[in-house]
Amino acid sequence: MNNRKIASALLAATMTASLFAGCSKEPELIETESETTAAPTTVETTETTPETSAFVTYTAEEYRNAGVNELNSVPILMYHRIYGMTNAETSYTGGNVDKDGYNRTSEAFEADLRSFYSQGYRMMRLTDFVDGYIAVPFGYSPLILTFDDGIRDVVLQGWKEDGTPEFDPTCAIGIMEKIKAEYPDYNVTATFFVNADLFGNGRENDEKVLKWMVDNGYDIGNHTRDHVKLGGCDADEIEKQVGAIYKLLDEIIPGQYVNIVALPFGSPEKMGPDKPQYERIFSGTYEGFAYTSKASLLCAWTRSYSPFVRDYDYTAIRRIRAYDNGGKDWDIEQNFAQLNEGKRYISDGDPNTIVYPSTDNTSGDWLKMTYGHQVITYD
Ligand SMILES: [Zn+2]
Repeated sequence: MNNRKIASALLAATMTASLFAGCSKEPELIETESETTAAPTTVETTETTPETSAFVTYTAEEYRNAGVNELNSVPILMYHRIYGMTNAETSYTGGNVDKDGYNRTSEAFEADLRSFYSQGYRMMRLTDFVDGYIAVPFGYSPLILTFDDGIRDVVLQGWKEDGTPEFDPTCAIGIMEKIKAEYPDYNVTATFFVNADLFGNGRENDEKVLKWMVDNGYDIGNHTRDHVKLGGCDADEIEKQVGAIYKLLDEIIPGQYVNIVALPFGSPEKMGPDKPQYERIFSGTYEGFAYTSKASLLCAWTRSYSPFVRDYDYTAIRRIRAYDNGGKDWDIEQNFAQLNEGKRYISDGDPNTIVYPSTDNTSGDWLKMTYGHQVITYD
């Protein structure tokens, strides 16, 4: 558990105390295998002691009114490069900089962030999502930003007198820092997946930049050494491609990077026992450096499953391509329209519980992973 998690856990415990004090209708604590009832029902899934398992709970009516559903989906956006341009300066749809919309203008990116905020999304770290630890406030929905390829996302202009980096205000970091100052409750954060050339500011500068990033709420992940399609590579090549980046990050920001791989080109799409070489994405040893990965990301087109449900696959986490195509072909607008029509994960505010309407799991096989959390259903 990192410091942020401990802080959240403490906050949750404090909230619990005050909520219980003001709550007229306490939820019912029931052992596993119990029938669900009209009142919010708590199912104990792990061994817990009442003194230490404090968690936040609300009435069924409060859950219903907020639409709390933690089996629903989460948008993980895949950005690439952000260019300091207005939308009018490109010859493509909306804020796309290229035909396929992999690169986006700074104007469009800033507008995206403001739009997600006003729709009730709050950011969280990808690594916490993979750990099943979702700590956005009650009634809000998680939002996760990712950037692949590095170049142009963190454009260094120089160094301030206090030794901190000065960024181009139109690069990804420049815009996120601006939004962070404007919306302190947005929890601005993102995970940057890098190749061997990092952010392209030169090794010495990028080392300092990486340290600044992890100290300022951003995460760094693995996008392979040479940006190769791992699908089709043999085990040794995969070990080199994945291991070299972990080794590099371990030299620069030891213990502070995330053990997650964004698969270049989203390849391979499928792992499995028939392809044992892909196990090297998840563990291996490169030049004496042993590494493990806890998840890998596809490119994909749409929202991710909640980490708690049957269809979620940590080796093939889906992302939304962050581009504009007039509301068609799985662009941002189409994806968020679907999310907002009853598909979005809406949080109960407590990272240690999983709350959903009982009607969403009538077959009983939709909820799969509980990560030791308390499960609460309501009617
Ligand atoms: Zn890439």
